[in-house]
Amino acid sequence: MPPGGISIPSPHGMPAQLSALQVLTLGSPSIAALFALCFLVLSRHNARARHLRVLALSFLSFAAASLVQILGLPPDAGWNAVISAALYAGCVILMAEGLLGRAGLAQGAGTKLVALVAIVGAVHYFYYVSNDIVARIYVLNFGCATVLLAAAARLGALRRGKPVDRVLFWLFLAFALSFFPRTWLTLGQVHTGMGARAFGSSSFWVALHLTLVLFGIALAVVLILAAAIDRIDDLHRERNEDHLTGMLNRRGFHECAARLGKRQGGMPVSLIACDVDHFKRINDAYGHAAGDHVLKRTAASIGRALRAGDAGGRVGGEEFLILLPETSVDEAYGIAQRLRAAIEAERFEGPLEGLRVTASFGVAQMAPGESMDELVIRVDALLYDAKRRGRNRVEAAGRLVQAVHRFQ
Ligand code: GH3
Ligand code: MG
Ligand code: MG
Repeated sequence: MPPGGISIPSPHGMPAQLSALQVLTLGSPSIAALFALCFLVLSRHNARARHLRVLALSFLSFAAASLVQILGLPPDAGWNAVISAALYAGCVILMAEGLLGRAGLAQGAGTKLVALVAIVGAVHYFYYVSNDIVARIYVLNFGCATVLLAAAARLGALRRGKPVDRVLFWLFLAFALSFFPRTWLTLGQVHTGMGARAFGSSSFWVALHLTLVLFGIALAVVLILAAAIDRIDDLHRERNEDHLTGMLNRRGFHECAARLGKRQGGMPVSLIACDVDHFKRINDAYGHAAGDHVLKRTAASIGRALRAGDAGGRVGGEEFLILLPETSVDEAYGIAQRLRAAIEAERFEGPLEGLRVTASFGVAQMAPGESMDELVIRVDALLYDAKRRGRNRVEAAGRLVQAVHRFQ
């Protein structure tokens, strides 16, 4: 990435006489600062604010590093090399941190510190102890690439994610890998003792800026797009989620059921309705908060009963629906019976100690041509039967008929 700490301007520092190349190069820190601002704006009122702020800092760090080099501030070439190296290293460490944070992963504080100290320490060594610009360039470019590649290796799951995740992964990996060929292919003209002007027009410097600007813009645009899509997904999830239990709410369940129902083709689909027995009495005896706790525990029991591909939702106060794709009514009946026993076996602590909770169930398999709404009406009627017949029981439609068929 950076040129290993050569300042492009005259040794005097002087913003007053910027060259045409410097004026042009000032475009990249300005764009980076603008992207940083975008990330900060996106982080407002956002549950994923932290990683967006980290990305803003990464782009700001890049803007600061380029300014340090372009403006030659501080004018001392050694300090300029060390400070710009620290800012560039900070930029990639923060970028890795931002991407990992978005994926719910973390970079250890020790790893970050070791990467920063190793890169800056080596640049310092190759200026003050053994002045070697090529070594500085290798250290900084390969050091930054290593930080990015280590993050990319941990982000492999993005390859199977949403389209924007996949684009982000491959772009990020390409960015990390680009440091190697670019540095090898363009370093030929660079040698210790060359003037700043010669360095500033070398193919290394031009290729460096070109790739940084192109990758920087592409990464920022994809990251901003990803942040917008993440926000929409979060809103969608919040809209479809029951805040008390974390299950789907009525709207979310029906949206999910419609989706699953469409995918079934000729496969059987079954539906279970579950309603906590005498729940009003629990509320009356122990209070509403205790009732909420019972609902959470019941939802957790249902969650444990669900298999991958099933959908469960709290569709009323103490009423739940469970959709079971590729499941016959016999299998669904077995699942409902096990769930009924699990709810009955729940034991409560504290003020609820000794409380026994039960639930009643209605189970049916979707008939040919039947809509999801019609199936819900049918399982509700079966649930009502279970209540009428004494509660803590499962009523299933057509189960016996199918069982008879099996023995024929
Ligand atoms: P049944 O066995 O016939 O189902 O009787 P029930 O008492 O469970 O049914 P009923 O419909 O009479 O009462 C349901 C109660 O659930 C009434 C309502 O105040 C309570 N409820 C609804 N939503 C919530 C909630 O989110 N939290 C709590 N704690 N109570 C709720
Ligand atoms: Mg009830
Ligand atoms: Mg009810």
